[in-house]
Amino acid sequence: MLTRTRTPAVSDWFTGEGDGFRLLGTRCTSCASVFFPREDSHCRNPHCAGGALEEVPLSRTGRIWSYTDSRYRPPSPYVSNPELPWEPYALIAVELQSERIVVLGQTVPGVTVADLTVGMEVEVVPGVLDEDAETTWTTWQWRPTGVTA
Ligand SMILES: [Zn+2]
Repeated sequence: MLTRTRTPAVSDWFTGEGDGFRLLGTRCTSCASVFFPREDSHCRNPHCAGGALEEVPLSRTGRIWSYTDSRYRPPSPYVSNPELPWEPYALIAVELQSERIVVLGQTVPGVTVADLTVGMEVEVVPGVLDEDAETTWTTWQWRPTGVTA
């Protein structure tokens, strides 16, 4: 049986499996601003003198702020195999429950824009971005809460 190594497509942006899966951001110890994608060099709040940035797990759930349909292959540097047919997917912007910041991501396979409405609650789950012979590249995906497909 072929076993691929599961490797995050981007390191240190998420952690865990199943119900323990979380996006990882950073929080400024001075002004409490939260950043995702994580900011590790300096606080981006212009009114903050700058504090240490510590890693924090982000909310598992949020509400759909906006969404769109990705029906065409994005241009380079997006990595995709031109030999394979393009699989449309829904791309959504989610406002996180606690942090109130907006995080982009794909929906889980099988969920299309027809299934989505602005304000709908979604949760973050581990997903697969791509696979090759040796590696399964993992990412995060959004799933409407209450859907277990
Ligand atoms: Zn700050």
